[in-house]
Amino acid sequence: MGTVKKIAVLPGDGIGPEIMEEALKVLRKVEDQFGHSFQFTFAMAGGGAVDRVGNPLPEETLSLCQQSDAVLLAAVGGPKWDNNPPELRPEQALLGLRKSLKLFANLRPAVLFEGLENASTLKQEVVKGVDLLVVRELTGGIYFGEKKREQLEDGEQATDTLVYHEREVERIVRRAFEIARGRRKMLTSVDKANILESSRLWRSVVNRVALDYPDVQVEHVLVDNCAMQLIRRPADFDVIVTENMFGDILSDETAMLTGSIGLLPSASLGEGTTGLYEPVHGSAPDIAGQGVANPAAMILSAAMMLRHSFGYEEAATAVEKAVRKVLADGHRTADLAGPGELAVGTEEFGDLVVEAM
Ligand code: ATP
Ligand code: MG
Repeated sequence: MGTVKKIAVLPGDGIGPEIMEEALKVLRKVEDQFGHSFQFTFAMAGGGAVDRVGNPLPEETLSLCQQSDAVLLAAVGGPKWDNNPPELRPEQALLGLRKSLKLFANLRPAVLFEGLENASTLKQEVVKGVDLLVVRELTGGIYFGEKKREQLEDGEQATDTLVYHEREVERIVRRAFEIARGRRKMLTSVDKANILESSRLWRSVVNRVALDYPDVQVEHVLVDNCAMQLIRRPADFDVIVTENMFGDILSDETAMLTGSIGLLPSASLGEGTTGLYEPVHGSAPDIAGQGVANPAAMILSAAMMLRHSFGYEEAATAVEKAVRKVLADGHRTADLAGPGELAVGTEEFGDLVVEAM
């Protein structure tokens, strides 16, 4: 029996509230089964918050999140708000949370679930056994460096600057080593050290930090080669750590290795143990309110929260195993069901996961 963990619950827009309900159901089961206690506090964020109070991330929501041990977010956004001015866009809520919680590491696992080999665009024998995790740096790199546009005599010129401080590199690399230690103990650091100075710094920091983790096997792979190897032999990867832009691109590539977007969770971590946990998919307005959305990505995001923010490894694994079992038993939500196959609804899928636990 530990302390009560405070969880800020942001159901958001579209299918958000439906899939959040299922994740909470699973977390209540975790309380019963493992003796952990959670205190859930609901708050608004995204388009619904824009409609009600004219702010995608109301002050109240922000301070709740700052005082919580973790934030669970389902999805924000939708066509209704697509033409809003930037400060009234639902996605602003995410950016605001990332910034104020100082989240610097984005974790995206890609796991091939038994029975879903056909959901991948790659051949079954290639994706068999895929179980990898991309750790992407979120606060630095070319996205945040100085930008410039200037008119020269012969035309316009644009500049983006790629900057990394060794401090920024070290904190993400350390986090990745820790995570690798809890998995198969293999770390692939991805860079472009044959061309970029920032990559040469990145590589030297990895080598220095590696001395503290002699039990973890490290390899350096150039980003172009990594993009290729991910399609050729994805099952060989365990943890991949990389800078912001490379991570953006590679995590979309890994998302497609295993099939449905409805199965992909994510975590964004900061300095302490606070984290933001959300599915990779969006608010899916096209199927909202119908009770057919796949809640697996949301449930798996909750499992990541148990592991990365609370250290409840046993409970996290139990939730993941339960999702695996439900899928292996052949239960399919509409996004995964084949033609003519009978699909289970959002609520039923959640019930099956609870039962499997
Ligand atoms: P965003 O801009 O937030 O990424 P989007 O519209 O680009 O939103 P999604 O909201 O992820 O992307 O939807 C893409 C497609 O995937 C839609 O057809 C949607 O119905 C489907 N989809 C997304 N999430 C799920 C889910 N959990 N279950 C079933 N289908 C889903
Ligand atoms: Mg999108």
